[in-house]
Amino acid sequence: MRISRTIGGFRLDRILLGLLLAGCVALAGRAWLEDHPEHNPWSPLDLADPPGWATSRKLTALRDDPAECRAVLERSGVEFAQLEPAGEGECRRESRVRLANRPLGADAPIASCAVTAGMAYWLRHSVEPAARELLGSPVNRVEHLGTFSCRRMYNREDAPWSEHATGNAIDIAGFVLEDGRRISVLRDWPGDGQGSLFLHRVRDDACNAFGTVLSPEYNAAHADHLHLDQQGRAWGVCR
Ligand SMILES: [Zn+2]
Repeated sequence: MRISRTIGGFRLDRILLGLLLAGCVALAGRAWLEDHPEHNPWSPLDLADPPGWATSRKLTALRDDPAECRAVLERSGVEFAQLEPAGEGECRRESRVRLANRPLGADAPIASCAVTAGMAYWLRHSVEPAARELLGSPVNRVEHLGTFSCRRMYNREDAPWSEHATGNAIDIAGFVLEDGRRISVLRDWPGDGQGSLFLHRVRDDACNAFGTVLSPEYNAAHADHLHLDQQGRAWGVCR
């Protein structure tokens, strides 16, 4: 006669087998996450890692941790210049960084470290490969309309402060390719040409690198640029 001990009506051997299987799954999951840092919320961010489930959260979290943000840039081999804090009140900028890598080059604006990290990541994993694939040429220069502007949203007195007020945003107007062509948000976003395809692709990808992404699809105020910022709220818009 076989006697099985039970706990709460379940046989003990089945419970032990279940626990063993759960343990194996947990160990396999941990090993898989170690091999895929882009999906692992606990691994340190490296901008060279491919895009993954954890990337967006890690990038936007840099907004509140400038020291970790600078460590990420260094770890990722991104050239940058660290500048002194500046400004007062709502427009105080504790985190000021200039991206030295091409294609922003000499024209690189000063932005928050979190925006700089988002830009480095976006250029590497989206803009540059998309330009080669869809337009057949590398990007030579990114045209921007600036980062810092001490103002409220849409310049309205009753609106919340813009992320531009702390240099935590950048407006992208277009891209100049190495073969001389220029892709403009204002001119090329509409229609179904390769330029439009490229702009839509990099807009979609930007949502993985920034807390908020606003394109011509969002409203008329964004007809001529992509607004990218690193606001830290959960309800970031991506449109
Ligand atoms: Zn903007």
